[in-house]
Amino acid sequence: MSMIENLENIKRLGMEEFLRNEKIRWTCTECGGTICVHKGYCYYCGIKI
Ligand SMILES: [Zn+2]
Repeated sequence: MSMIENLENIKRLGMEEFLRNEKIRWTCTECGGTICVHKGYCYYCGIKI
């Protein structure tokens, strides 16, 4: 994930929409846990995204 891309998304979508997208992006589809943004797997169930 790049900072510049993030900033452009914030500008385009607004902060609220951006945060909602980020939340969806980093939520495990299997257990609803938090996905590690660096390693790409769920902290809770360990599934690879
Ligand atoms: Zn999970």
